Amino acid sequence: MGRARRRGAAQRRAAFARLTEEIRGCTLCPLARGRQHAVVYRGSLTPRVVFVGEAPGAAEDRAGVPFVGRSGRLLDAAIAQLPPELGAFGVLNVLKCRPPQNRFDPKAARTCRPYLDRQLALLAPRLLVPLGSRALRALDPDAPPILKAAGASRTGSVGTLFPLLHPAAALRSRRWRERWEADVAALGRWLSSDALETL
Ligand code: URA
Repeated sequence: MGRARRRGAAQRRAAFARLTEEIRGCTLCPLARGRQHAVVYRGSLTPRVVFVGEAPGAAEDRAGVPFVGRSGRLLDAAIAQLPPELGAFGVLNVLKCRPPQNRFDPKAARTCRPYLDRQLALLAPRLLVPLGSRALRALDPDAPPILKAAGASRTGSVGTLFPLLHPAAALRSRRWRERWEADVAALGRWLSSDALETL
C-alpha cells in the first residue's frame, strides 16, 4: 500500500473512532435515557459487506455490541457458511440504542439516521445486507416488502443491497427458518459468482 493510501486509511480509522465515541455519548433522543450502552459496530474497519439490523436488544444493550444474542448467533452461523468471496464484514443497526419493549421507534430512527449515513460513508462497503423490513426500508424506501425482496440483489440509492429476513423471524417459526436458510444460500451463490467484483 502506498503512503497516501495508508494515510487515507489511518484518517478513516481515526474518523470512525471519533464517530463511535460521539454515538456512545449521544443524548439526542429519549432512548438515551433507557440504555446501558449505545451499540455502535462490530467487525472490520474495511468491510466488503455490512449487515444492517434494526435495533439492539437486551443482550446488545448490556454488551454494547450488535447482534450478540440469539439472533446474533444465528447471523454468525449464517456468515460462517458464506463463501470466502464475502471477505471482511461488519455488523451494525439502524437504531443505536435499545427501544423500550424492543419496539422499533421511527422518530428515534430519524434522529439516529445521520449516524448510520456517516458510518456507511466511512466504512464504504461494496454490499449492504439489510436484515428485515425496518432495515430494508431505511436503506431503500422504494423496495417491495421484505418477503418479496429477500434473497435477491437489488440496487438502491445507497448502493447494492442483498436483503435477508431478520434472523429473529427465523428463530420464531420453522417456515421462516427455511426461508432464511434458502436466502442465505442464495446470497452465498451470488457471492460465489464474483458479483461483488463487478460493483
Ligand atoms: N436485532 C437487531 O436488529 N439488532 C441487534 O443488534 C440484535 C437483535
